[in-house]
Amino acid sequence: MKTIQDILNQKDFSKEDLINLLKINTQENLDLLKESANNLMLESVGSNVYLRGLIEFSNYCVNDCYYCGIRKSNAEVHRYLLSKKEILDLAIWAAEKGYGSIVLQSGERADENFVSFVEECIVEIKENTKSENLPNGLGITLSIGELSLNQYERLFKAGAHRYLLRIETTNSDLFKQIHPETQSFERRLESLNCIKTTGYQLGTGVMIGLPNQTYEDLANDLLFFKEIDIDMLGMGPYIVHLSTPMKIYKDYYFENQKEIYALALKMVATARLLLKDVNIASTTALQAMYPWGREEGLLFGANVVMPNITPNEFRKEYLLYNNKPCLEDNKGDCFTCTISRIESVGRKTVLNKWGDSQHFTNKLRQNA
Ligand code: SF4
Repeated sequence: MKTIQDILNQKDFSKEDLINLLKINTQENLDLLKESANNLMLESVGSNVYLRGLIEFSNYCVNDCYYCGIRKSNAEVHRYLLSKKEILDLAIWAAEKGYGSIVLQSGERADENFVSFVEECIVEIKENTKSENLPNGLGITLSIGELSLNQYERLFKAGAHRYLLRIETTNSDLFKQIHPETQSFERRLESLNCIKTTGYQLGTGVMIGLPNQTYEDLANDLLFFKEIDIDMLGMGPYIVHLSTPMKIYKDYYFENQKEIYALALKMVATARLLLKDVNIASTTALQAMYPWGREEGLLFGANVVMPNITPNEFRKEYLLYNNKPCLEDNKGDCFTCTISRIESVGRKTVLNKWGDSQHFTNKLRQNA
């Protein structure tokens, strides 16, 4: 029987190895995992942390994911769509502040009005954020859900170059447990494929600690990330939202919070060991569970942080889960706070750079 140290000494991992890493339950082995992930991060992507200013520009959504606070059936939510000018002003502010990249995130809509609106926003952001520091304008990641190939292509052509679409789980039965029938696992896979074909840096992610999710499911998720050759990863712990159908799992969630949080950190570290040079976000959901969760994520191998720069009055209307942090901070405070938090764990924030995935850059070099 292999010890955790034996597994960590390997260059590659079987599904069983991954399961054993995720099952770690002693502080000694957790420290070994953290140290290995950190070392591998230093070797493959370095110690820098890259920022993405997160603009949650609309909470309209055509979908009804059972776990999500802004699902279309949640009538308690006040719906908003920021204007083009509001989005552009936020982007310009971010570029001037030193953010090299932003994420444009919204609920899902694939109607022509919405897609052309996003297309126009991207074009204007690129044109208006060029400077000596950012000769090609801000880097733009999109996270706006499933679109057609043609729509992905249009937005890529407009200037977005990264796309995040979470698969949420690669167990199709579990996917059905957390989504209505109208949302298809196969279509999500096809969308990921289209994003990749279009030329975006591809990002995905899963929820960790879902009711009925097994260690094997999570190991399969990790192997899936490798198989589809992702460039970016944004995973977070499952957090219950009490105005959704999944409130039925609130006892499960509150009784298992500590384990879910620890499992999320182990997933970050194990993903780093398996995927090596991809960008891994330390997500806000970690901070929602524990005030220093985002910094802990960095200590377990993450290298990207996404401070929220959405105006205050809209943040409280974009609650995918309960207990979301930083609802009152203004965006300037978030910037300063984030940098000092990153420094508090001995890491340096890189300003005025896109911070592209090293994995993507390496692939381009190999194919040149
Ligand atoms: S998770 Fe995304 S797609 Fe699902 S309801 Fe929420 S915003 Fe819409």
